[in-house]
Amino acid sequence: ERILDEHEQDDEVSLELSLRPSKLQQYIGQDALKNNLSVFIEAAKMREEALDHVILHGPPGLGKTTLANIIAAEMNVNIKTTSGPAVERAGDLAAILSSLEPGDVLFIDEIHRLPRFVEEILYSAMEDFFIDVVIGQGDEARSIRIDLPPFTLVGATTRFGSLSAPLRDRFGVQLRLQYYDLDSLKLIIERTADIFEVAIPENSLDELARRSRGTPRIANRLLRRVRDFSMVKGEEAITLDTTNYALKVLEVDPEGLEPVDHKIMRTIIDTYGGGPVGLETVAVSIGEEVVTLNDVYEPYLIQRGFLERTPRGRKATAKSFEYFKNIDMD
Ligand code: ADP
Repeated sequence: ERILDEHEQDDEVSLELSLRPSKLQQYIGQDALKNNLSVFIEAAKMREEALDHVILHGPPGLGKTTLANIIAAEMNVNIKTTSGPAVERAGDLAAILSSLEPGDVLFIDEIHRLPRFVEEILYSAMEDFFIDVVIGQGDEARSIRIDLPPFTLVGATTRFGSLSAPLRDRFGVQLRLQYYDLDSLKLIIERTADIFEVAIPENSLDELARRSRGTPRIANRLLRRVRDFSMVKGEEAITLDTTNYALKVLEVDPEGLEPVDHKIMRTIIDTYGGGPVGLETVAVSIGEEVVTLNDVYEPYLIQRGFLERTPRGRKATAKSFEYFKNIDMD
């Protein structure tokens, strides 16, 4: 049980839990994905089988963990949760797998970070529902086979590309989460405001949605901060003035870009003449990890048309030159 996530009673964590929709119908946006998923769930239920293994991929905060929990709820089964880095030994995985009941969901967050030898144990578990465990050492060592009940592995990853082919191919259902459009973000913020019992007029809602990087986790976080400013000012509803003021203090620009985005783009534009330049070089210049740039910052900059990936490196777009000429965060 050690490696199953203990839900830290940290405020942030429990707040996220309370905001998490529990059924597919309450899950806002991602319509194509939702439609497909509901068909697969319904068909599996009709056949009275476990749902095929599911991989959810996309940038952080888009709702992968939420979906994993919804899948279990819709299938009426239990969910056990762990993460790639938490599973350090083969025995850890064997322990969780052999605790599953038929049809259960095993959710592995950051599945790309599973150690390779642990991943290899998953292959037979996923495909034929058994694992071989080696017991004893040296001459005494022998392998025993443990049969598992049919279960559903739900994996989440921000880096689909770094999954090994054998692991990737064992997921029958592969779902990519997209950044949310403005209407979906507004619905998400409205829903959260409802739970917080705070009034937010249309103009503030719009502004918050536009600055949330297409990401529900960020939308909810910004709403919480803006609510603080509004409360202290004694407002009955969150005004646009307060929203703008709070976002400025939080260093979120009108496109939802943060200081790190600015540093990335300024480095490419000012130091490297707009590129192309390798992401590693940019990372070193601004003192951030390449992985963070890759997973967190770059996808949104690309999606918004500020950054371009070319075979020779990253390039600033014309839109980017224009935007960063006119804006100064310092
Ligand atoms: P991920 O696992 O992809 O990092 P999470 O599932 O933890 O993202 O989602 C982050 C937060 O955003 C959750 O607390 C949840 O409240 C909210 N959220 C995500 N997707 C949705 C959605 N489609 N509708 C409503 N809220 C969402």
